[in-house]
Amino acid sequence: MDLSKLRIDGARLRASLEEMAKIGATPGGGVQRLTLSDEDKRGRDQIVKWMKEIDLAVTIDEMGNIFGRRAGKNDSLPPVMSGSHADSQPKGGRFDGILGVMGALEVMRTLHDNKVRTERPLVIVDWTNEEGSRFAPAMVSSGVWAGALERDWVYARTDINGKKFGEELERIGYKGKVPAAKWPVHAYYEFHIEQGPMLERQKRTIGAPKGILCLHWYDVYLTGEANQVGPTPMEGRHDALCAAAEMILAVNTLPDRMHGNMVATVGEIQNKPNSRNIIPDGVHFTVDIRSWDDEHALKAWELLKTDFHEIAARRGTPIRIDETWRCPHAPFAEPLVRRVLDTAGELGYSSLHMVSGAGHDASYMNQVCPTAMIFVPSIGGRSHVEVENTSWSDCEAGANVLLHCLLKTADER
Ligand SMILES: [Zn+2]
Repeated sequence: MDLSKLRIDGARLRASLEEMAKIGATPGGGVQRLTLSDEDKRGRDQIVKWMKEIDLAVTIDEMGNIFGRRAGKNDSLPPVMSGSHADSQPKGGRFDGILGVMGALEVMRTLHDNKVRTERPLVIVDWTNEEGSRFAPAMVSSGVWAGALERDWVYARTDINGKKFGEELERIGYKGKVPAAKWPVHAYYEFHIEQGPMLERQKRTIGAPKGILCLHWYDVYLTGEANQVGPTPMEGRHDALCAAAEMILAVNTLPDRMHGNMVATVGEIQNKPNSRNIIPDGVHFTVDIRSWDDEHALKAWELLKTDFHEIAARRGTPIRIDETWRCPHAPFAEPLVRRVLDTAGELGYSSLHMVSGAGHDASYMNQVCPTAMIFVPSIGGRSHVEVENTSWSDCEAGANVLLHCLLKTADER
């Protein structure tokens, strides 16, 4: 058959996404499938079942990463890999991550139905804990697989209730025996929603990011002095929450003070004892800094640390800082990015060469093999929220681009 005419089945892709959206569905129309939760397990069971239906050889490694392999004509050649993640944010959306897993599955189903054999093997992957919201940091399992993070360090990470990553992985039955260690991969494509407004604003269907910004994560702990709020005068207080408030605004103004090329956010805070009539004596908050330039982000952090120490000293609230995680910026392989753009054009879709502000497992895969991503528009640019949405026709378009990128790359000798 003429493979250039081959297309995925958009209705089947939609049905699979709708089926997955039932697992951990939230009343607001989103999904809550936190990593290593019962919902995550149910989602995984469904994915494995679907993989087996089309005769993929399923492997689960010791990080719980799920691989579904389809043999090639020349099966000893390194495979072409594609996938993303099935976990979600708390009250997250129905497309983030799962679109890339279902998109790759739909490509495999299409090849299966049409009895297409590629030269190289193809592998779908579902990476464990991409989000990092239950267990920080993010993208840990592609990180371990790529050799950038330590397995046992990740196993020991705890959630807000003190549960350990390794124990939860075991509890849901997805701690496999195969080592989580990279093997030769010819190329990696990740299909994902954009999670920003650029494609919609410019009325384009397919985005091809030239790479991903660096991600730097920090954790700040402040100690104050608790006391009854009524009898304690304002002067001489050591209010940890007030210190945090000043610090949070310092984070918010940091990009301006650094003349741009970065974003900085405090997204999570815990306040103790969190009572209206006790002066707060313990605060933890997170800092997230992203830039295309790692050095710029590090300079910004130095400036911010000076602010933090000054504020903590002035308010008498001792500070401890953990430099939790740094994932360097990832410039993708230009020939692969070009292939995404060219393939979009061949299929009649408009496209945009851009950057990714969001982190993805593709960051770590980029350290292992030539990597590229395929973006489709997020309606209103909204993501990590229940109203996250992408049109079904755009999902279909992106999966068709993925299909043809995979076909071309898997036939390279
Ligand atoms: Zn994602």
